[in-house]
This record gives sequence, C-alpha cells and structure tokens, in this order.
Amino acid sequence: MDAASRPERNLRTAEILAVGAELTVGETRDTNSGEIARSLTEAGVAIARIDVLPDRLRVVAGTFRAALRRADLVVSTGGLGPTPDDLTREAIARVLGEIPEVDPALEAWLRGLWSRRKLPFPEINRKQAWLIPSARALPNPNGTAPGWWIDRPDGRVVILLPGPPREMRPMWADHVLPGLRSRGLGRGLISRTLRLTGIGESQAADLLGEPVLRRSNPEIATYARVDAVDVRISASDGRGQTADALLDEAEALVLDRLGSYVWARGTTTWPEAIGAELERLGWSLAITESGTEGSLGTLLGGLAGLRRAEILAGPGSAAAVGTQAEAVAARSGADVGVALAARPKGDDTAISVGVATPAGRHRERRLGFLGGSAGRSRAALIASAALLKVLRTALPGSSRR
Ligand code: ATP
Ligand code: MG
Repeated sequence: MDAASRPERNLRTAEILAVGAELTVGETRDTNSGEIARSLTEAGVAIARIDVLPDRLRVVAGTFRAALRRADLVVSTGGLGPTPDDLTREAIARVLGEIPEVDPALEAWLRGLWSRRKLPFPEINRKQAWLIPSARALPNPNGTAPGWWIDRPDGRVVILLPGPPREMRPMWADHVLPGLRSRGLGRGLISRTLRLTGIGESQAADLLGEPVLRRSNPEIATYARVDAVDVRISASDGRGQTADALLDEAEALVLDRLGSYVWARGTTTWPEAIGAELERLGWSLAITESGTEGSLGTLLGGLAGLRRAEILAGPGSAAAVGTQAEAVAARSGADVGVALAARPKGDDTAISVGVATPAGRHRERRLGFLGGSAGRSRAALIASAALLKVLRTALPGSSRR
C-alpha cells in the first residue's frame, strides 16, 4: 500500500511475540523481546504485552490475531527458519487470510547464497523466499531468513524478524526502527532521569508519596539500579500543556522532595561524574581500598585521571583512612587520595572513607545494611559519593604540586 492511501495511525502501542519451543522449554532465554521493548519504549511506544510462544501454528496465529485487535504495532521474532516447525509466516498469513508465494527476487538471492559456496540449494529453504501480497521483505545480511514488514489497511504494522539475536539486531536498528520512525512512532514521550544516592528505593518512593507515583502524565517512577536509585520522569503533550512544561513541573516537585540525594542525571555513571569534576579542577586521583576486594577500583575503572588503584589485603582499619588517603596521593603524585576501608559487622558492613585533597581532609563513617559482596559494592558507592561531594565543593586553582 502506498503512503498516500494509508490511513493516518500513529503507532502508540505495541505487542511483542517471541516464537520458539526452545524458549518455552527453557533452553534459551528470550532476550529479543526485552531489547525490542526497550527500544520502542525509548521511542515513546507503550508495550502492552510480551508473549513467549511454542512452535504451534494455532497458538501463534491466535496470539497474532488477538494482538492485532489490541495494538498498533505487532513485532515477532523467531520461527522464520526453513524447517516445518518454523511457522511464523504461515501463522500471520492465516490470520490475514493471504496465501504465501515464493518471491522470485528473494529466491534468486537465497540461491545465490548457496551457489557462492558451491553448494546445492536445499529445496526446504525455498520457504524463506516466501512473501504474502501485503508484505515486503526486510533484508537479513547475517542469515538466510529475510524479515517481513506488513502494512495493514487500518494503518497497523506487523513486523516479523528472525530469532538469532545477531540477525535480529541489525535488522531492527538499520531497517525496522528508522522505517517505523518515519511512519510516526510513539506519542512524543520525553523523559528525564534523576540519579539518587544515600537513599533506598522504598524511602525515595515514600518521600514522593503514593499520589505522585500513581500519576500517568507526567509519570514519575523509581528504579533500584546497581549504582543508584533512579527517578524517571516522563511526559507527553496533554492536559492543555506541552510535554516540556509537564516535565519541568514534575521535576521541580521531585527536586523539592529528594533534591539533596541527587548526584547525577540521565545515564551518567560514577566514573563520568567524578571524572568531570577532576577535569574541572585539573586534579588527578589515587585510591587505596581494603576489605572490599577491589570494588571501588572496579566501579571507577576506566576513569581518566586515575593514577593508581591499590587493593590491600585483609579488613580495613577505620582509624587509618585519613592518613592512608594522604599517603596514596603522595606515593602516586596525585592531587586527590581516597582511602576506603570496609569490614563485616554482624550481617552489615562497617565502611570508612577518607578523602584528601589540596584543600583539606574529609572523613566519613557509615554502616552499610548489607553483608558480603553486596556490602562491598555498597562501600564503593559510599566512597564514590563522598569523593564526588568533596570535589563538587572544591575550587579550582589549588594543586598539590
Ligand atoms: P533460523 O533461520 O536461524 O532458524 P529463526 O527465525 O527460525 O531463524 P529460531 O529458529 O526461532 O529463529 O531461533 C534460532 C535461534 O535463535 C534459537 O535457537 C536461539 O538461540 C535464538 N533465539 C530465538 N529466539 C530468541 C529470543 N527471543 N531471544 C534470544 N534468542 C533467541
Ligand atoms: Mg529456526
């Protein structure tokens, strides 16, 4: 169908189908759906559901039929192989009441793949050259299964992609997503993320309050990540206000209640935040840690401006972190030294941090309410937060040498 005769339909909702018995018997994990869901969510499309299905024609067809009644966009992965149990094409053809036929151009391309390797063409693979009248083929540079792009008369779109992630991913990124975008994708959803430290997810949710967390536009949601608690604010145009205005309003509310815990925005990582401050100050860094199995060095690994990262054996001594911070900086010719000491205390972890800068010394003691490796990771986060706080209040100009 040409663009002019196609009804306007913004693709706002989507359903994703992962087809394959290897998924439903638990041999393979469905990673495709999550990747596609994430990409569509970023584009402002609401994912209504994700189904994982066995290679059963009736089940796959039934799910396509139901999804096409509900969603603007239906995307499937898997079941495009040559064998009889690969039946995603049959399923959608049945639902749409169309008959698949071998497409001469696709067949020529497929036969070419074998003749280049000087192998006879297995007739079973002819199925991969099928198309239905309403589908066009999506090229697959990494395999033998082309995808299908189907435009429905009511403006809905169906996309079939192969199951192997290395085939699916480039097809999605290079063909499907750009095509969908130019078709009109999502509801203009924009979002901002505030990254919090020194507070747990449930406490953050408590401070925001249930009425705030229940709103849908703007939507405010909390996420516990390994390196932060994230508060994600998203909005689309509505209620007589632009998405931007709704976002600003919601952000002001979040900052009012949680502002003192915010250490970064967006997808900023600890090395990025600390690296930016070191660069502003023209300072370099050295760290020494004990009782942490190197968790701080791991967290800050790859940080520009990190001169040295030492891991000391045994539990750390809380009393020594101040002098250790100075000493490691001196030994490494760095401007800033950080010493982190952790030791188990019952089920918890006692954490001490020393930060020495040209401007002075800072010490912090905390109890991490976690033990073992979770406690050691918490120690690295607490040390990074202490360092970042010190750097953010420091003024450029003073340097150790
Ligand atoms: P092929 O032509 O390679 O057979 P296909 O479209 O038929 O492609 P499947 O047979 O369903 O794909 O799956 C092939 C392989 O791809 C699976 O064995 C599995 O390793 C991987 N795979 C399939 N679906 C998924 C998924 N949803 N998530 C992650 N991996 C998947
Ligand atoms: Mg297969």
